[in-house]
Amino acid sequence: MGRPPLNSRLAEFGTTIFAEMSALAVRTGSINLGQGFPDVDGPESVREAAVRALRDGRGNQYPPGPGVPELREAVAAHQSRFYGELGLTYDPDTEILVTAGATEAVAASLLGLVEPGDEVIALEPYYDSYAASIALAGGTRVPVTLRPRDGAYALDLDELRDAVTDRTRLILLNTPHNPTGTVLTRDELAAIAGLCVERDLLAVTDEVYEHLVYDGEHLPLASFEGMRERTVTISSAGKTFAFTGWKVGWAMAPPELLAAVRAAKQYLTYVASGPFQYAIAEALALPDTYYEGLRDDLRTKRDLLSAGLRDAGFEVFRSAGTYFITTDIRPLGASDGIDFCLSLPERCGVVAVPTQVFYDHQPEAAHLVRFAFCKREEVLRDATSRLKGLTS
Ligand SMILES: *Cc1c(COP(=O)(O)O)cnc(C)c1O
Repeated sequence: MGRPPLNSRLAEFGTTIFAEMSALAVRTGSINLGQGFPDVDGPESVREAAVRALRDGRGNQYPPGPGVPELREAVAAHQSRFYGELGLTYDPDTEILVTAGATEAVAASLLGLVEPGDEVIALEPYYDSYAASIALAGGTRVPVTLRPRDGAYALDLDELRDAVTDRTRLILLNTPHNPTGTVLTRDELAAIAGLCVERDLLAVTDEVYEHLVYDGEHLPLASFEGMRERTVTISSAGKTFAFTGWKVGWAMAPPELLAAVRAAKQYLTYVASGPFQYAIAEALALPDTYYEGLRDDLRTKRDLLSAGLRDAGFEVFRSAGTYFITTDIRPLGASDGIDFCLSLPERCGVVAVPTQVFYDHQPEAAHLVRFAFCKREEVLRDATSRLKGLTS
């Protein structure tokens, strides 16, 4: 065979460690704290709403390209309900696009807005689809690395400012941030907004953990001065309602920007998740007690796993949001996260993810390992007692 089959745009993304880790988890019967999906499904009423939609024949055929009107209206209502005070509202007909999860919304935004050669700034470590999506769009990724400060991961605003060049097209932001659990503060977001306005940059913000903030608050970048007109805001039902398999997401932006995202999206999936769109429309209207209950439950789990990991000898970085905790394994006498994670299932029956796979500059992150806490409390307790066996 002549040249290798995988094209150059994707060559560096050919294999990931995840397949190997998951196979290991199954073979060793390990507790999987690697992947970020809940081990209990979301609300029964929302599942029933999906069943009703299927039975009533709603969404079983291609839904409208922008998404079913019920869901677009529910997304608009959700946005007014949680961020209306900040002046952030969207028109369901011209400013909201339903996507196959946030993943497609990010991909379509980059494909629709980035020219080959444009630079895209993203916070490192990255969510795993970002680098590949930037590459598919022909963009050049420019990482701005979050680093430990006072026991948690933080953004260096000077480094962000220095990363902007004349070729920068957009900043791809993720807050609350996976995998570090960093939640950008009002001052940080205001500074990022100022930079975007000053340098005339677009912003694409991945806010899938908007309701999973345990310390501080989530503020959409689009609510800052001068940002609504230049920001694509992305969220999704997967994390908020614990239905990660349904792949219902959405993008919100002023009409001209959204049209660019839609142009790419229509040739990716065209549409997806018909009946689930109706169910998520109902889910978004759940009372505040649902959203508060979800957050309080996950805060308890974060605390439980953080304490357990600390007890087991890890250095634990404070996580203010998301499903994840980042740890440093060096206090356990280990230095390479990949070796550590590959041996962990055999050594104690737990699976975790080496954070370095989310970095361009891997050596800097060699000693970091990510654990997910979106699991039942008894599973987290079992996992932490197994991890304690590492040092005894
Ligand atoms: C889980 C996750 C996504 C994927 O969302 P989907 O709606 O499942 O596509 C996107 N971004 C981040 C940061 C995530 O953690």
